[in-house]
Amino acid sequence: MATPDLSKEEKSEVEEDTVEECGDGFSDMSDSEFLHLDDLMWPVHCQGEAESSKRNYEAHQNQGELQDTSETVNAENPNCSTELPEGYLQRVEHGKETAGKRQKRKSDARNPLERYHMKYLCVTDLCAQGWCEQQMVYSIELPGFLQPERVALMDRGASIHLARELEVHDIVSVCTKTREDSWAVKFLNLLTTISVLQAGGPVRECPVFGEIDGIFLVGVIDELHYTPKGELELSELKTRGRPSLPTNAQKRNHHLQVKVYKHMFDAMVRGQMNLDNLISHLRLRPEQPLGAHIKEHAEKAGLTVNCFGDLLELTCLSLTFSDLPNIDRLTLEYHYQKDNTLIGTETVHFGNIEEELQDYMAFWKGWRETKGVDIEEAWKCRSCNYLDICEWRKTMGTVINHTKRTKQ
Ligand code: SF4
Repeated sequence: MATPDLSKEEKSEVEEDTVEECGDGFSDMSDSEFLHLDDLMWPVHCQGEAESSKRNYEAHQNQGELQDTSETVNAENPNCSTELPEGYLQRVEHGKETAGKRQKRKSDARNPLERYHMKYLCVTDLCAQGWCEQQMVYSIELPGFLQPERVALMDRGASIHLARELEVHDIVSVCTKTREDSWAVKFLNLLTTISVLQAGGPVRECPVFGEIDGIFLVGVIDELHYTPKGELELSELKTRGRPSLPTNAQKRNHHLQVKVYKHMFDAMVRGQMNLDNLISHLRLRPEQPLGAHIKEHAEKAGLTVNCFGDLLELTCLSLTFSDLPNIDRLTLEYHYQKDNTLIGTETVHFGNIEEELQDYMAFWKGWRETKGVDIEEAWKCRSCNYLDICEWRKTMGTVINHTKRTKQ
Protein backbone atom coordinates (compact mmCIF):
# COMPACT_ATOMS: atom_id res chain seq x y z
CA MET A 1 0.00 0.00 0.00
CA ALA A 2 1.47 3.32 -1.01
CA THR A 3 2.08 5.90 1.65
CA PRO A 4 3.13 9.50 1.24
CA ASP A 5 6.66 10.40 2.27
CA LEU A 6 6.77 12.19 5.55
CA SER A 7 8.92 15.10 6.53
CA LYS A 8 10.91 14.80 9.76
CA GLU A 9 8.37 17.04 11.45
CA GLU A 10 5.41 14.95 10.27
CA LYS A 11 7.12 11.74 11.28
CA SER A 12 7.80 13.06 14.73
CA GLU A 13 4.15 14.06 14.99
CA VAL A 14 3.03 10.60 13.93
CA GLU A 15 5.29 8.94 16.44
CA GLU A 16 3.98 11.14 19.17
CA ASP A 17 0.43 10.34 18.12
CA THR A 18 0.92 6.75 19.03
CA VAL A 19 2.23 7.47 22.48
CA GLU A 20 0.11 10.34 23.61
CA GLU A 21 -1.96 9.35 26.52
CA CYS A 22 -5.70 9.16 26.55
CA GLY A 23 -5.72 8.71 30.28
CA ASP A 24 -8.60 6.78 31.56
CA GLY A 25 -10.00 3.38 32.28
CA PHE A 26 -10.02 1.34 35.39
CA SER A 27 -7.40 -0.98 34.11
CA ASP A 28 -4.96 1.86 34.26
CA MET A 29 -6.40 3.92 37.07
CA SER A 30 -5.17 1.42 39.63
CA ASP A 31 -8.11 1.99 41.90
CA SER A 32 -6.39 5.09 43.06
CA GLU A 33 -8.81 7.84 43.57
CA PHE A 34 -10.15 9.78 46.43
CA LEU A 35 -11.93 8.48 49.44
CA HIS A 36 -13.18 10.97 51.97
CA LEU A 37 -12.14 9.84 55.40
CA ASP A 38 -13.04 12.10 58.28
CA ASP A 39 -12.01 15.53 57.11
CA LEU A 40 -9.25 14.30 54.86
CA MET A 41 -9.43 13.16 51.29
CA TRP A 42 -7.33 10.07 50.95
CA PRO A 43 -7.44 8.33 47.62
CA VAL A 44 -7.55 4.61 47.93
CA HIS A 45 -5.04 2.46 46.14
CA CYS A 46 -6.03 -1.13 45.66
CA GLN A 47 -3.17 -3.54 46.23
CA GLY A 48 -4.84 -6.84 46.40
CA GLU A 49 -5.49 -8.35 43.03
CA ALA A 50 -5.00 -8.16 39.37
CA GLU A 51 -8.33 -6.59 38.44
CA SER A 52 -6.62 -3.35 37.57
CA SER A 53 -3.75 -4.71 35.54
CA LYS A 54 -3.10 -2.67 32.44
CA ARG A 55 -4.06 -3.93 29.10
CA ASN A 56 -0.81 -3.91 27.28
CA TYR A 57 -1.98 -1.67 24.51
CA GLU A 58 -3.23 0.82 27.06
CA ALA A 59 0.27 0.98 28.42
CA HIS A 60 1.29 3.05 25.44
CA GLN A 61 -2.00 4.85 25.02
CA ASN A 62 -2.53 5.96 28.58
CA GLN A 63 -0.25 7.78 30.84
CA GLY A 64 -2.92 9.62 32.67
CA GLU A 65 -3.37 7.58 35.81
CA LEU A 66 -1.40 6.01 38.56
CA GLN A 67 -0.02 2.57 38.09
CA ASP A 68 -1.23 -0.44 39.97
CA THR A 69 1.31 -1.71 42.44
CA SER A 70 0.28 -5.27 41.66
CA GLU A 71 2.64 -7.07 39.34
CA THR A 72 0.35 -10.00 38.88
CA VAL A 73 -0.60 -10.98 35.38
CA ASN A 74 -4.31 -10.53 34.95
CA ALA A 75 -5.81 -13.92 35.52
CA GLU A 76 -8.91 -12.92 33.59
CA ASN A 77 -6.94 -12.01 30.55
CA PRO A 78 -3.79 -13.93 29.91
CA ASN A 79 -2.81 -11.32 27.35
CA CYS A 80 -2.72 -8.66 30.04
CA SER A 81 0.34 -7.88 32.05
CA THR A 82 1.65 -4.83 33.79
CA GLU A 83 5.16 -5.90 32.90
CA LEU A 84 6.97 -5.13 29.70
CA PRO A 85 9.26 -7.64 28.09
CA GLU A 86 12.97 -7.40 28.76
CA GLY A 87 13.80 -6.32 25.23
CA TYR A 88 11.58 -3.99 23.29
CA LEU A 89 11.34 -4.73 19.63
CA GLN A 90 11.01 -1.95 17.16
CA ARG A 91 8.96 -4.01 14.79
CA VAL A 92 7.13 -7.27 15.13
CA GLU A 93 9.01 -9.93 13.22
CA HIS A 94 6.93 -12.92 14.17
CA GLY A 95 5.26 -13.54 10.85
CA LYS A 96 4.65 -17.23 11.43
CA GLU A 97 3.12 -16.74 14.82
CA THR A 98 0.89 -14.00 13.45
CA ALA A 99 -0.26 -16.08 10.52
CA GLY A 100 -1.19 -18.84 12.95
CA LYS A 101 -3.15 -16.44 15.13
CA ARG A 102 -4.84 -14.97 12.10
CA GLN A 103 -5.96 -18.37 10.90
CA LYS A 104 -7.20 -19.23 14.36
CA ARG A 105 -9.11 -15.95 14.61
CA LYS A 106 -10.87 -16.58 11.31
CA SER A 107 -12.14 -19.94 12.48
CA ASP A 108 -13.08 -18.58 15.91
CA ALA A 109 -16.82 -18.04 16.26
CA ARG A 110 -16.46 -15.91 19.40
CA ASN A 111 -16.72 -12.13 19.21
CA PRO A 112 -13.63 -10.06 20.15
CA LEU A 113 -14.87 -9.42 23.69
CA GLU A 114 -15.18 -13.14 24.29
CA ARG A 115 -12.01 -13.98 22.43
CA TYR A 116 -9.91 -11.58 24.48
CA HIS A 117 -11.71 -12.38 27.76
CA MET A 118 -12.85 -8.81 28.24
CA LYS A 119 -15.89 -8.15 30.42
CA TYR A 120 -15.89 -4.45 29.66
CA LEU A 121 -14.15 -1.82 27.58
CA CYS A 122 -12.24 1.20 28.76
CA VAL A 123 -12.90 4.51 27.05
CA THR A 124 -9.26 4.41 25.99
CA ASP A 125 -10.01 1.20 24.09
CA LEU A 126 -12.31 3.26 21.90
CA CYS A 127 -9.60 5.90 21.47
CA ALA A 128 -7.11 3.24 20.39
CA GLN A 129 -9.74 1.83 18.06
CA GLY A 130 -10.36 5.30 16.65
CA TRP A 131 -6.67 5.62 15.78
CA CYS A 132 -6.40 2.25 14.06
CA GLU A 133 -8.58 -0.72 14.92
CA GLN A 134 -6.16 -3.18 13.35
CA GLN A 135 -3.30 -1.77 15.44
CA MET A 136 -5.40 -2.12 18.57
CA VAL A 137 -6.08 -5.78 17.76
CA TYR A 138 -2.39 -6.47 17.18
CA SER A 139 -1.61 -4.76 20.48
CA ILE A 140 -3.87 -7.21 22.25
CA GLU A 141 -2.74 -10.27 20.36
CA LEU A 142 0.95 -9.39 20.32
CA PRO A 143 1.47 -7.43 23.50
CA GLY A 144 4.71 -5.97 24.72
CA PHE A 145 6.10 -4.33 21.60
CA LEU A 146 6.62 -0.92 23.05
CA GLN A 147 9.56 1.19 22.01
CA PRO A 148 11.79 2.46 24.86
CA GLU A 149 11.41 6.11 23.85
CA ARG A 150 7.65 5.71 24.09
CA VAL A 151 7.96 4.23 27.56
CA ALA A 152 10.00 7.29 28.59
CA LEU A 153 7.34 9.64 27.18
CA MET A 154 4.63 7.76 29.02
CA ASP A 155 6.53 7.95 32.29
CA ARG A 156 6.88 11.71 32.00
CA GLY A 157 3.18 12.09 31.22
CA ALA A 158 2.22 9.89 34.15
CA SER A 159 4.35 11.99 36.51
CA ILE A 160 2.54 15.17 35.47
CA HIS A 161 -0.85 13.54 35.98
CA LEU A 162 0.17 12.20 39.36
CA ALA A 163 1.51 15.56 40.53
CA ARG A 164 -1.77 17.14 39.53
CA GLU A 165 -3.81 14.54 41.32
CA LEU A 166 -1.77 14.98 44.49
CA GLU A 167 -2.61 18.70 44.46
CA VAL A 168 -6.13 17.88 45.64
CA HIS A 169 -5.72 14.75 47.71
CA ASP A 170 -3.36 12.17 49.13
CA ILE A 171 -3.37 8.51 48.25
CA VAL A 172 -4.24 5.67 50.57
CA SER A 173 -3.48 2.04 49.85
CA VAL A 174 -6.22 -0.46 50.53
CA CYS A 175 -5.72 -4.20 50.64
CA THR A 176 -8.33 -6.09 48.61
CA LYS A 177 -8.95 -9.82 48.58
CA THR A 178 -11.68 -10.32 46.01
CA ARG A 179 -12.84 -8.81 42.73
CA GLU A 180 -15.78 -7.34 44.61
CA ASP A 181 -13.35 -5.61 47.00
CA SER A 182 -11.48 -4.18 44.08
CA TRP A 183 -14.64 -2.78 42.53
CA ALA A 184 -15.79 -1.58 45.96
CA VAL A 185 -12.77 0.73 46.02
CA LYS A 186 -13.94 2.32 42.79
CA PHE A 187 -17.45 2.84 44.15
CA LEU A 188 -16.17 4.30 47.41
CA ASN A 189 -14.18 6.75 45.37
CA LEU A 190 -17.20 7.54 43.24
CA LEU A 191 -19.18 8.29 46.41
CA THR A 192 -16.45 10.71 47.45
CA THR A 193 -16.58 12.37 44.05
CA ILE A 194 -20.32 12.88 44.37
CA SER A 195 -20.07 14.51 47.78
CA VAL A 196 -17.22 16.83 46.77
CA LEU A 197 -19.08 17.94 43.64
CA GLN A 198 -22.25 18.46 45.65
CA ALA A 199 -20.29 20.74 47.93
CA GLY A 200 -19.14 22.71 44.87
CA GLY A 201 -15.54 21.49 44.98
CA PRO A 202 -13.29 20.23 42.19
CA VAL A 203 -12.53 16.54 41.73
CA ARG A 204 -9.73 14.74 39.96
CA GLU A 205 -9.79 11.20 38.61
CA CYS A 206 -13.55 10.85 38.56
CA PRO A 207 -14.64 7.28 37.74
CA VAL A 208 -17.47 6.77 35.24
CA PHE A 209 -19.37 3.59 34.34
CA GLY A 210 -22.11 2.78 31.91
CA GLU A 211 -23.48 0.62 29.17
CA ILE A 212 -23.33 1.81 25.59
CA ASP A 213 -25.00 -0.20 22.87
CA GLY A 214 -25.08 -3.28 25.11
CA ILE A 215 -21.38 -3.13 26.05
CA PHE A 216 -20.16 -2.06 29.47
CA LEU A 217 -17.67 0.80 29.55
CA VAL A 218 -15.54 2.31 32.29
CA GLY A 219 -13.46 5.44 32.33
CA VAL A 220 -11.79 8.04 34.51
CA ILE A 221 -12.30 11.76 33.94
CA ASP A 222 -9.19 13.80 34.71
CA GLU A 223 -10.96 16.72 36.34
CA LEU A 224 -14.41 18.16 36.98
CA HIS A 225 -14.95 21.61 38.43
CA TYR A 226 -17.42 24.46 38.39
CA THR A 227 -16.63 27.56 36.36
CA PRO A 228 -17.25 31.05 37.80
CA LYS A 229 -20.57 30.96 35.89
CA GLY A 230 -21.53 27.80 37.77
CA GLU A 231 -21.16 25.48 34.79
CA LEU A 232 -19.80 22.00 35.40
CA GLU A 233 -16.68 21.72 33.27
CA LEU A 234 -14.79 18.58 32.31
CA SER A 235 -11.10 19.26 31.85
CA GLU A 236 -8.92 16.57 30.31
CA LEU A 237 -5.16 16.92 30.61
CA LYS A 238 -3.02 15.85 27.68
CA THR A 239 0.75 15.89 27.83
CA ARG A 240 2.83 16.44 24.70
CA GLY A 241 6.40 15.51 23.86
CA ARG A 242 6.72 18.68 21.77
CA PRO A 243 5.53 22.20 22.58
CA SER A 244 2.84 22.24 19.91
CA LEU A 245 -0.81 21.34 19.62
CA PRO A 246 -1.68 17.91 18.20
CA THR A 247 -2.71 17.07 14.67
CA ASN A 248 -6.36 16.87 13.71
CA ALA A 249 -6.15 13.07 13.77
CA GLN A 250 -5.05 13.15 17.40
CA LYS A 251 -7.63 15.75 18.26
CA ARG A 252 -10.41 13.60 16.86
CA ASN A 253 -9.50 10.88 19.36
CA HIS A 254 -9.36 13.35 22.23
CA HIS A 255 -12.73 14.78 21.26
CA LEU A 256 -14.27 11.33 21.18
CA GLN A 257 -12.81 10.55 24.59
CA VAL A 258 -14.32 13.56 26.37
CA LYS A 259 -17.63 13.18 24.54
CA VAL A 260 -17.92 9.59 25.73
CA TYR A 261 -17.07 10.69 29.28
CA LYS A 262 -19.84 13.27 29.18
CA HIS A 263 -22.28 10.74 27.79
CA MET A 264 -21.46 8.34 30.64
CA PHE A 265 -21.36 10.92 33.44
CA ASP A 266 -24.66 12.50 32.39
CA ALA A 267 -26.34 9.09 32.27
CA MET A 268 -25.01 8.30 35.76
CA VAL A 269 -26.31 11.48 37.37
CA ARG A 270 -29.66 10.97 35.65
CA GLY A 271 -29.88 7.71 37.62
CA GLN A 272 -29.39 5.49 34.58
CA MET A 273 -26.72 3.25 36.07
CA ASN A 274 -28.44 -0.12 36.00
CA LEU A 275 -27.19 -2.33 38.82
CA ASP A 276 -28.35 -5.60 37.30
CA ASN A 277 -26.54 -4.77 34.07
CA LEU A 278 -23.39 -3.84 35.92
CA ILE A 279 -23.40 -7.03 37.97
CA SER A 280 -24.08 -9.26 35.01
CA HIS A 281 -21.52 -7.59 32.71
CA LEU A 282 -18.78 -7.69 35.32
CA ARG A 283 -19.89 -11.02 36.76
CA LEU A 284 -19.69 -9.74 40.31
CA ARG A 285 -21.40 -11.25 43.36
CA PRO A 286 -23.53 -8.69 45.20
CA GLU A 287 -23.83 -10.99 48.23
CA GLN A 288 -20.02 -11.16 48.62
CA PRO A 289 -19.03 -9.79 52.06
CA LEU A 290 -16.60 -6.88 51.81
CA GLY A 291 -13.06 -7.30 53.11
CA ALA A 292 -12.13 -5.93 56.54
CA HIS A 293 -9.97 -3.17 55.09
CA ILE A 294 -12.72 -1.97 52.76
CA LYS A 295 -15.29 -1.98 55.56
CA GLU A 296 -12.92 -0.06 57.77
CA HIS A 297 -12.56 2.68 55.16
CA ALA A 298 -16.29 2.74 54.49
CA GLU A 299 -17.00 3.16 58.20
CA LYS A 300 -14.51 6.02 58.46
CA ALA A 301 -16.46 7.68 55.66
CA GLY A 302 -19.68 7.20 57.65
CA LEU A 303 -21.04 4.34 55.54
CA THR A 304 -22.53 1.14 56.91
CA VAL A 305 -22.05 -1.60 54.35
CA ASN A 306 -21.58 -5.32 54.77
CA CYS A 307 -21.61 -6.82 51.32
CA PHE A 308 -20.74 -5.55 47.86
CA GLY A 309 -24.43 -5.19 46.93
CA ASP A 310 -24.95 -2.75 49.84
CA LEU A 311 -22.28 -0.47 48.47
CA LEU A 312 -23.62 -0.70 44.93
CA GLU A 313 -27.11 0.28 46.03
CA LEU A 314 -25.78 3.14 48.10
CA THR A 315 -23.79 4.44 45.13
CA CYS A 316 -26.78 4.19 42.84
CA LEU A 317 -29.06 6.01 45.29
CA SER A 318 -26.45 8.72 45.85
CA LEU A 319 -26.15 9.29 42.12
CA THR A 320 -29.89 9.33 41.53
CA PHE A 321 -30.63 11.78 44.34
CA SER A 322 -27.47 13.85 44.04
CA ASP A 323 -29.00 16.63 41.93
CA LEU A 324 -25.66 16.91 40.19
CA PRO A 325 -25.93 18.67 36.82
CA ASN A 326 -24.93 17.31 33.44
CA ILE A 327 -21.50 18.36 32.22
CA ASP A 328 -21.84 21.77 30.55
CA ARG A 329 -18.38 22.25 29.05
CA LEU A 330 -15.70 19.98 27.62
CA THR A 331 -12.13 21.28 27.63
CA LEU A 332 -8.83 19.77 26.56
CA GLU A 333 -5.68 21.11 28.17
CA TYR A 334 -2.38 20.44 26.39
CA HIS A 335 0.82 20.59 28.44
CA TYR A 336 4.43 20.30 27.36
CA GLN A 337 5.92 17.29 29.13
CA LYS A 338 9.39 18.75 29.53
CA ASP A 339 8.45 21.64 31.80
CA ASN A 340 4.69 21.15 32.26
CA THR A 341 3.90 24.52 30.65
CA LEU A 342 0.49 25.00 29.09
CA ILE A 343 0.61 24.77 25.29
CA GLY A 344 -3.04 25.54 24.76
CA THR A 345 -6.62 24.66 25.56
CA GLU A 346 -9.46 23.65 23.31
CA THR A 347 -13.20 23.63 23.86
CA VAL A 348 -14.95 20.57 22.47
CA HIS A 349 -18.51 20.85 21.24
CA PHE A 350 -20.66 17.95 22.25
CA GLY A 351 -22.20 16.39 19.18
CA ASN A 352 -23.87 13.13 18.33
CA ILE A 353 -21.47 10.23 18.80
CA GLU A 354 -23.99 7.42 18.49
CA GLU A 355 -23.21 6.51 14.90
CA GLU A 356 -19.47 6.41 15.51
CA LEU A 357 -19.88 4.33 18.66
CA GLN A 358 -22.25 1.92 16.94
CA ASP A 359 -19.59 1.25 14.34
CA TYR A 360 -16.97 0.61 17.05
CA MET A 361 -19.32 -1.62 19.01
CA ALA A 362 -20.22 -3.60 15.88
CA PHE A 363 -16.59 -4.74 15.84
CA TRP A 364 -16.64 -5.79 19.50
CA LYS A 365 -19.88 -7.69 18.98
CA GLY A 366 -18.34 -9.56 16.08
CA TRP A 367 -20.71 -8.09 13.52
CA ARG A 368 -17.92 -6.99 11.21
CA GLU A 369 -14.27 -7.70 10.44
CA THR A 370 -11.35 -5.67 11.79
CA LYS A 371 -10.53 -2.51 9.85
CA GLY A 372 -7.20 -0.72 9.48
CA VAL A 373 -6.67 2.90 8.51
CA ASP A 374 -8.19 4.44 5.39
CA ILE A 375 -5.87 5.23 2.50
CA GLU A 376 -6.00 8.93 3.45
CA GLU A 377 -4.53 8.07 6.82
CA ALA A 378 -1.92 5.59 5.59
CA TRP A 379 0.74 7.92 7.02
CA LYS A 380 -0.12 6.45 10.42
CA CYS A 381 1.40 3.15 9.30
CA ARG A 382 4.87 4.69 9.04
CA SER A 383 5.37 4.63 12.78
CA CYS A 384 3.31 1.54 13.49
CA ASN A 385 5.02 -1.36 15.27
CA TYR A 386 3.02 -3.81 13.18
CA LEU A 387 3.84 -2.37 9.76
CA ASP A 388 5.73 -5.46 8.62
CA ILE A 389 2.99 -7.93 9.38
CA CYS A 390 -0.14 -5.87 8.87
CA GLU A 391 -2.72 -7.85 6.93
CA TRP A 392 -4.96 -4.84 6.35
CA ARG A 393 -2.12 -2.95 4.72
CA LYS A 394 -1.25 -5.89 2.50
CA THR A 395 -4.86 -6.33 1.45
CA MET A 396 -5.32 -2.64 0.73
CA GLY A 397 -2.09 -2.64 -1.31
CA THR A 398 -3.38 -5.54 -3.39
CA VAL A 399 -6.72 -3.82 -3.96
CA ILE A 400 -5.02 -0.57 -5.00
CA ASN A 401 -2.63 -2.34 -7.38
CA HIS A 402 -5.50 -4.30 -8.90
CA THR A 403 -7.52 -1.10 -9.40
CA LYS A 404 -4.53 0.58 -11.04
CA ARG A 405 -4.04 -2.36 -13.42
CA THR A 406 -7.73 -2.41 -14.33
CA LYS A 407 -7.64 1.28 -15.21
CA GLN A 408 -4.53 0.93 -17.42
S1 SF4 B 1 0.28 -0.79 9.61
FE1 SF4 B 1 -1.30 0.79 9.39
S2 SF4 B 1 -3.24 -0.30 9.09
FE2 SF4 B 1 -1.73 -1.77 9.88
S3 SF4 B 1 -2.03 -1.76 12.07
FE3 SF4 B 1 -0.44 -0.29 11.67
S4 SF4 B 1 -1.46 1.69 11.44
FE4 SF4 B 1 -3.02 0.09 11.29
